[in-house]
Amino acid sequence: MADPFARLADIPRVPLAHLPTPLELMPNLQERLGGPRLFIKRDDATGLATGGNKARKLEFLMADALSQRADTIVTVGAVQSNHARQTAAAAAKLGLPCVLALTQTVAIDTLAYRESGNALIDRLTGAEIRLFPGDADTARVTATIADELTRQGRRPYVIPVGGSTPLGSLGYALAAKELLDQADAHGIRIDAIVHGSGSGGTQAGLLVGLAALGRAMPVIGISVSAPQEKQRAKVQVLIEPTAALLGLSKVDADVVIDDGFVGPGYGLPTPAMREAVELVAASEGLLLDPVYAGKAMAGLIARVRRGDFTAAETVVFLHTGGSAALFAYIDQFTDDARGHP
Ligand SMILES: *Cc1c(COP(=O)(O)O)cnc(C)c1O
Repeated sequence: MADPFARLADIPRVPLAHLPTPLELMPNLQERLGGPRLFIKRDDATGLATGGNKARKLEFLMADALSQRADTIVTVGAVQSNHARQTAAAAAKLGLPCVLALTQTVAIDTLAYRESGNALIDRLTGAEIRLFPGDADTARVTATIADELTRQGRRPYVIPVGGSTPLGSLGYALAAKELLDQADAHGIRIDAIVHGSGSGGTQAGLLVGLAALGRAMPVIGISVSAPQEKQRAKVQVLIEPTAALLGLSKVDADVVIDDGFVGPGYGLPTPAMREAVELVAASEGLLLDPVYAGKAMAGLIARVRRGDFTAAETVVFLHTGGSAALFAYIDQFTDDARGHP
C-alpha cells in the first residue's frame, strides 16, 4: 500500500509537541472497574505550557501562519480555554505576538476561574487578552480583531475555536498513526478509542487517520457541550476536507457521539466528572480536568460499568490534556461543593 501520509511532505509543520506521547496501561483503574484492558494515550504530555491536544494541531496551524508571513496570532476560546493557552504558548515560543479573545461562556465567577489555571498561564505568556460576553459570535469577534490589526499594518493569522480546521485536524490523523504504531510494536490490538469531543477536530482527524490506514475502529466522542446531532455535524464537516489534504477523496467514517455526560453545560461540573477526576487521580496518580477529560472519563467509566466491553477487549482513553484548568475549579472541588460533610 502506498504511504497514505506521503502528501504530508508538502505541508509545512513546525515542531512544537513532544512526540510520540506515551501509551500506558492503567492497571489499577482497570482492576477497580473490572472489564476491558484500559490504556491511556498521554496527549496531556505534549508540552506547550502543561500540554494537551491543541499542540498537535498547532504544529500545522503555526507553520501555516509562518508560511503566510503572519506577524500576529489571533484566537478565541472560553476564559479557561486550553486551546487559547496552548496557542499563546506556541506564539511565545515562535516569537509572535498573540491576541486572545476570551468569552465568558461559563457561568462561574470565582477569582480562581477568572485568574488561575489557563488564565494565569495566558497572562504569563504575554498574550494580549480581551474579554467578550459568553454569547459573542466567535467568528465575528476574531474577524473584527483581525481587521483592526490589518488597519494598523499588521499581518494577523486567525485560528478559529479549538484549532479545528482541516489543517489542524491533520495533527490527529497523524496521531492515529502514532497510536497504531505504538500498539503494533507492543502487540496490542485496540478495540475502541474514547475521548472528549469539543470543536471536533480531534475526532475528525482520528477518523481520517484510521481510515487512511485501513484500520477503522470505533472512536467514541464524549461531547463536552453540544447535543449529539450538533456535535456529530461539527466532526462530520471536517472529515472530507481533512482527508482531501491527504489526497483521499472518500472516507467512510462512523461518527459516534455520546452526549450523556455534558451535564448542565460546557465547563459546568457534574458529579460523574468529579468521581472520574478523583478516581483516576487516586488510582493512577493521573490528572484529568473538569471540562474535557473528566467528563470523557466519566463516559468511559459508565460504559465499562454497564458492560459495553468484554474483558478480552482493549480500550484506549485519549487524554487530551487540560489539567491546568483544575486549579481554576478549586471551589468546585471542596467538600461543600461535592455535597459531603
Ligand atoms: C480542545 C480540547 C478537547 C476537544 O478537542 P476538539 O478537537 O476541540 O474536539 C478535549 N480535551 C481538551 C483538554 C481540550 O482542550
